[in-house]
Amino acid sequence: TPADIIKDLHQGMEKVNESLGAYISYDVEAALKEAETADLSLPLGGIPIAVKDNINVKGQPCTCGSKFLDENYTAPYNATSIDLLRKGGAIPFGRANMDEFAMGSSTENSAFFPARNPWDLARVPGGSSGGSATAVGANIALAALGSDTGGSIRQPAAFCGNVGIKPTYGRVSRYGLVAFASSLDQIGPITKTVEDAALVLNHLCGHDARDSTSLKVEVPDFTSALGQDLKGLRIGIAKEHFIDGIHPGIREAVEKAVKQMESLGATIVDISLPHTDIGIATYYILAPAEASANLARFDGVRYGHRAEVPADVENDKRLLYHYQKTRSEGFGPEVKRRILLGTYVLSSGYYDAYYVKAQKARTLVRRDFTEAFEKVDLVVSPTTPVPPFKIGAFRDDPLSLYLEDLFTIPANLAGLPAISVPCGMIQHEGVELPVGLHLTAKPLDEVTVLRAAHAYE
Ligand code: GLN
Repeated sequence: TPADIIKDLHQGMEKVNESLGAYISYDVEAALKEAETADLSLPLGGIPIAVKDNINVKGQPCTCGSKFLDENYTAPYNATSIDLLRKGGAIPFGRANMDEFAMGSSTENSAFFPARNPWDLARVPGGSSGGSATAVGANIALAALGSDTGGSIRQPAAFCGNVGIKPTYGRVSRYGLVAFASSLDQIGPITKTVEDAALVLNHLCGHDARDSTSLKVEVPDFTSALGQDLKGLRIGIAKEHFIDGIHPGIREAVEKAVKQMESLGATIVDISLPHTDIGIATYYILAPAEASANLARFDGVRYGHRAEVPADVENDKRLLYHYQKTRSEGFGPEVKRRILLGTYVLSSGYYDAYYVKAQKARTLVRRDFTEAFEKVDLVVSPTTPVPPFKIGAFRDDPLSLYLEDLFTIPANLAGLPAISVPCGMIQHEGVELPVGLHLTAKPLDEVTVLRAAHAYE
């Protein structure tokens, strides 16, 4: 029964969450209560699904991995994705750990504790949806929701041996997802299998009047696309994706996967995505710019953390003092770094040189894909250039950490659907670690992404 599954998961959480850091919180009583009325005739009837801690579930905490929303915030409403999942029968259970406000690639930026990779506890699970991926990888969630702004579903899925899909921008409503970079953010599932991903996606998509960027388009049955071979499918391999700096084991695993897709009927086509190298720089201007605006709402007045102003601060300085102190105390270092970067690139003197230029660069990246998709149906690459790294490896080097996002960011800049699917294990520094294969398709073509990933899997 659903109650048995929830109790079973709960037992696992109690046993291993302290060492894995997958969940920031979980409310087993609430989940069991929901299970009492579960409708098992629904496709996701009674299935518990973990939720990244930046997606609002009414009555539950929603910390965004930040001290800012710790203790002081209980979600007053449901995200549309939660309403839809529940309509499909699912039960939200567990608030998954994450990098603060989804900024990071390792979950080390969580204000509470880092999450750990279930394959090697000394390593990161990726991020920012690292808690979601850890929970699924360690079997303390059947499936989880993540959010992906520059790779935050796909990269942790790759690091933990899971499937993770970022849908087309506008497929899944962002209503109730705490905004990081609104023009890039998308919610999507992290699961064990492609079939599970398709099943959950069936109950996430759809037009929502409460999100002005939500697309008014039919939602196909994503599961019905599964189970076909790859005959007739043209797979693009971009020379810009197979550069020095990719871990040799990852390159080998991906090349093997491409051969396997060929043997399943796909045709391999050489393509070029000439602006691949400007993706990261473009993203790290646009995402912080949008974040600096989105995070302005954390002002110590409306909700969340609120600093005390000592009585001896003069009247005309009290407001500024309050604002400064609240934000200094509430945000962690990476969030502050992004707000500073974003404010800088949006300031009047630099707006044209950075923000406007990055918008133009974004168009070039998007155009690369438009041209490529005239010749191919899918673009295949590794999900990450390197395997899961040790906790602390990039502690003093945020710039190098940003390079992690090389393969995942372009799909966000261009708004395209993309999946990471496991493609074997490699030996690295004496441990066995999972590798992710990354497939990108044209807008709204999740069906092809899922079909190919499923055939390969
Ligand atoms: N690693 C990227 C960043 O730090 C992507 C994060 C995300 O997709 N939320 O911004």
